[in-house]
Amino acid sequence: MADEALDLPAPPPPQQQQRRGWGVAFARLRSLWQRWFLWLLLAVLVSALLVTVVWLAGRHEVEQVQAALERDTADAVVDLRSGLQRNAQSLRATLAPGMEREHWVDRAAAQLREHREWLRLEWRDAQLRPVEAVNTPYRMRILEESNRGPAQSDVALACATARKAGAPAYSPSHYVPVAGGGGVEVMELCLPMDGGDYLVASYSLRDTLVELVGPTLTRGQEVAFTEADGTRLVALGTSRRIGTRVFTAQQRIDLPGASLMLRVDGWRAAPDLFPNMLTALVTAISIALVSVLVLLARDTRRRLRAERDLADALAFRKAMEDSVITGLRARDLQGRITYVNPAFCEMVGFTPEELMADSVEAPYWPTELAHEYHLRQTRRFAGGLPPREGFESVFMRKDGTRFPVLIFEAPLINAHKVQTGWMSAFIDVSEQRRVEEISRASQERLQASARLATVGEMASLLSHELTQPLAAIASYATGSLNLLGPEAKGEQAEVAMAVKRIAEQADRAGQVIRSVHDFVRRRDRMREAVAPQALIDAVLPLVRLQARKLDVSIEVVFEERLPAVVCDRTLVEQVLLNLARNAMQAMDSPDSTGTRLLRLRVARALPVGATVPADGRRWLEFSVADLGCGISDDVAARLFTPFFTTRADGMGLGLSLCRTVVEQHGGALMFEPNRPRGTVFRFTLPAAG
Ligand code: ADP
Repeated sequence: MADEALDLPAPPPPQQQQRRGWGVAFARLRSLWQRWFLWLLLAVLVSALLVTVVWLAGRHEVEQVQAALERDTADAVVDLRSGLQRNAQSLRATLAPGMEREHWVDRAAAQLREHREWLRLEWRDAQLRPVEAVNTPYRMRILEESNRGPAQSDVALACATARKAGAPAYSPSHYVPVAGGGGVEVMELCLPMDGGDYLVASYSLRDTLVELVGPTLTRGQEVAFTEADGTRLVALGTSRRIGTRVFTAQQRIDLPGASLMLRVDGWRAAPDLFPNMLTALVTAISIALVSVLVLLARDTRRRLRAERDLADALAFRKAMEDSVITGLRARDLQGRITYVNPAFCEMVGFTPEELMADSVEAPYWPTELAHEYHLRQTRRFAGGLPPREGFESVFMRKDGTRFPVLIFEAPLINAHKVQTGWMSAFIDVSEQRRVEEISRASQERLQASARLATVGEMASLLSHELTQPLAAIASYATGSLNLLGPEAKGEQAEVAMAVKRIAEQADRAGQVIRSVHDFVRRRDRMREAVAPQALIDAVLPLVRLQARKLDVSIEVVFEERLPAVVCDRTLVEQVLLNLARNAMQAMDSPDSTGTRLLRLRVARALPVGATVPADGRRWLEFSVADLGCGISDDVAARLFTPFFTTRADGMGLGLSLCRTVVEQHGGALMFEPNRPRGTVFRFTLPAAG
C-alpha cells in the first residue's frame, strides 16, 4: 500500500490546479459558444426581421392615413375656392346695381335663401354708404344697421382692395358677438360694381364650412378655419374619441385681401400590432420559420448525437479489428475478398489492395495447391460443403514461405437476414507446430538418453562378464606357450606364434573392455603421449582384415616430423577403427561405384608457417577419407544422433561415441564431402609439448 501511495504522481499546487480549472472551463465555454453562436445569430436575425417588418407595416399604414387626409384637405380647399368664386360670380350676375331698389331687395332675399353661408347682402354706394341691405332669413339678425356704416373698417379695407384690383376681395375675419351670449366669425366679401357702387356679402365662416365643404369631410373628423398662427376660428365635425390618434392636415387658402387656413383633424385608432394582412402573414411566416428553426436545431442535435455515437461505435469496432491477433477476412458470394483486417495482412504479407484485387484465386494460396483450393471454394459456395470449423490449411506468404493456418468460417448474414458472403477467422499455427516439433525432438532425445543409459549399463555388465573369460583365454594361451616351450620348431613354432597372437588380442580385448568400462563410468583414464604412427599401426591389422574382404585399398599418409599426441590410446584407436569401418561400408554400399580407396592421413592441424593459437597448444589432425556414397543433407542433420543409422545391422552409436571421445580430449570431429565423391571425417587431438 505504501509503495502504491509513493507511485502516485504528486498533486499539482493549488494555484496551478485553479489555473487548470479555469482553462478547462474556458475551453468548455468556447466550444459551447462555437456550437450555439450560429443558432443565436440566426434567432437574433429572425427576431430583428420580424420586428422590422411589423414596424414598417405599421408605419406604412400611418403614412397611408396621413396621405388620405392630405388628399381630402386639398380637395376641400379646391371645393372652397371654387364655391367662393361661384358665389362671387352669381352675386355679380344677379345683383348688379342699377336696377330698381325693390327689385334688388327681392333678388337679394332670393339669393340669401339659396345661400345659407351669407348672413347679409348690402348695396353700398361709392362712399360705402349702405343703399339697401337684406339679412338672411335663416338666422336672427346678427349684424346691426348701427355698426355697418361707411366707417366699418373691414368692409372699407376689402372694398379698397377690390376697387384697386377691379375684382372681388375679402376682409380678414372678425368676431361679431351676439346678444344673449356667443358670437359669429364673419368674413366680408366686397364686389366692385360698374358706376362705383359695391356689393358686400357677409359670410358666416361656420356656415361656409357647412355649405361649401362636402359633408363626407366632416364625418369622423374635425374641419376648422384657423388663423395663420393656428388660432382656431371655427370648427365643425366630430370631436376626438379617447384611445384614438390624431392625424392633422392643413392647407392655406389665399383669397384676395385675406388668407385662411383649413385644418382637418382625423381621428383614427392607433395601428394594431397586426394592422393588416401583410404584417399578419409575415408574422405568421416568421413564427413558422422560428418553429422550423427550433425543430431543425433539435433534429440537428439529435443527429449530431447519433453521429457521435456511431463514430464512437465505429472507432471501437475498428480498434477491436485492428488489435485482434486473429486474421479476419470477408468474402462475397463470388469468392472475392471484401474485407481483411491488419492481422490478416501481416500474416500473409500482402496489402489490403493486393488481397482485394478482383480475382477468384487468392494471392496467398500456395501455387501447387491453388487448383485444389479453387475447386474446394467453388464447391463450398455452391453449397456442397459445410462451413469450416477448426479446419487446418496451408497458406503462402508474399515471400513464398508456406505456413499452417487454422480456419474458422461462418456465413455472413446482413441486416435483412440474407447471406451476403462468408466471414473467416485465421490463426497462424506455425509457432504452435514449431513448439510441438521441439517437444517431440526433446522427447526423442530423452528416450535416446534413456536407451543410451541402458546401453551403458549393459556395456558395464558385459565388460565385467567378459573380463573372466578373456583372462582365462590369456592364461590358457600363456599355458599353451609354456607347454610348447621357447624352442619350438616347424609347425609347433607356427602354433606358438598363433597362440601368442591370441594372447595379444585377448589382452587388447581386455583393454578395450576396460576403456569402455571406464568411459561409461566416466573415470578419467591416464592420458599418455603416443606417436601418431603407433595409433595407426595398432588399428591397421584389423582395418586391413575388413579391407581385404571388401576389396578396398588402403593409403596411409603421415606428415613429416609429427609430434606425439596426448590421448587415451585405446579410445582413440577405437575412434580410428570406427571411422575406417564406416568409410569402408560406405564404399561397399550399392550406391557406390568405382575405385574403393581408404585414405588415412595425419598432419598438423595448422598449415606449416601459420601462427600458433593464442593458448599455445598445437593440434594434430587425423582424417579418414573414402570414395563412398557420400552423406545426404537429410542424413547429415542427424548423423551424430545416438541410434541413428541407415544400416539394417547398425547400432547408430559409433559416430556419437566418437564425437564424445574426441570432445573429451578437447578436440573436434567434423566431416565434409570428399572429391570426387565420398566423405572425409576429420578430428583433432592435442599435440604433446
Ligand atoms: P552405424 O555405423 O552403426 O550405422 P554410426 O553412428 O557409425 O552408426 O553411423 C551412423 C550413420 O552414418 C551410418 O548408418 C551411415 O549411414 C552414416 N555414415 C557414417 N559414416 C559414413 C561415411 N563415411 N559415408 C557415408 N555414410 C556414413
